[in-house]
Amino acid sequence: MKSLLGIGECMIELSSAGDNLWKQSFAGDVFNTLWYAKALMAEDTAIDFFSAVGDDQSSEDLVEFIEKAGISCAGIPRIEKGVPGLYRIHLDGAERSFSYWRDTSAAKQFMKSPELLWKQIATADIVYLSGITVAILPDEDVEVFISGLRAALKPGAIVAFDPNIRPRLWANEARMKDVITRTAAISDLVMPSFEDEETTFGDKTPMATAQRYQALGVKQVLVKNGEDDTLFVEGDKAEYFPVKTVEGVLDTTAAGDSFNGAFFAEYMVSGDVPKAISLAQRCAGVVICNKGALIPFETVKASV
Ligand code: ADP
Repeated sequence: MKSLLGIGECMIELSSAGDNLWKQSFAGDVFNTLWYAKALMAEDTAIDFFSAVGDDQSSEDLVEFIEKAGISCAGIPRIEKGVPGLYRIHLDGAERSFSYWRDTSAAKQFMKSPELLWKQIATADIVYLSGITVAILPDEDVEVFISGLRAALKPGAIVAFDPNIRPRLWANEARMKDVITRTAAISDLVMPSFEDEETTFGDKTPMATAQRYQALGVKQVLVKNGEDDTLFVEGDKAEYFPVKTVEGVLDTTAAGDSFNGAFFAEYMVSGDVPKAISLAQRCAGVVICNKGALIPFETVKASV
């Protein structure tokens, strides 16, 4: 497999630099995953990001940041008078909370010209999306997205989906569960985090989560569970992979995103699931010992 396409939103991130000073960066769940895939991916692999951006300076900066990381966003729609979404990280000791300004972000309009997306999808071996990808779309666009996605895939390509459940992004719980479930049903690989699934769907165990997705026709399910074992299920085979204890956990932001990115980096080259899970766990273990969503490539490469 030679190409990975992520579809979603990348936002401006503001974190405190002390005394009313703000450090600006960029992040967003799907983009974070591409970042870690890029850090660990074979040289000859293409990584693309599909979203929508505006026509202002912040959108220019965002595109420049993404391209500079070696991730292409050629062919994405530009929204007239659009601006990127923004979020601010509040730190209270080691506790983090977030304020978001994303209701009017350009990324919500990534289905404005669906043919641009279908064209991009047709180039990818793995198409990766998350629950946030579908949560930010207007209702009518969700339907076009879900009904058109598989038809646009090239033969042999797969859809990977992390439900990444964020209740505050949804109008209500019933809608959230319905769209997450229907998006999973068009996916080949679902990569949930057990805590979210337990809270939303009432699953008693990671195996119950895996079986619920399998019942929708999903071929492979990879259930992350913090410091507890990672579960991989395919057909009637199930395997648990213990997570190594990590000392000095600082900030668990992007643990799941980085796990997914590292998983793809190995899986796309070797197709070896245990090896990919091992790299994914090691990468997430490094990310949670550093502050912020995006760790420099060199640090990631040197530490896993
Ligand atoms: P999310 O960030 O999506 O909530 P998880 O909390 O399940 O996802 O974490 C994703 C992965 O990060 C885990 O599968 C594990 O490999 C790693 N991880 C998370 N928390 C810890 C921890 N306390 N110690 C070691 N690894 C962890």
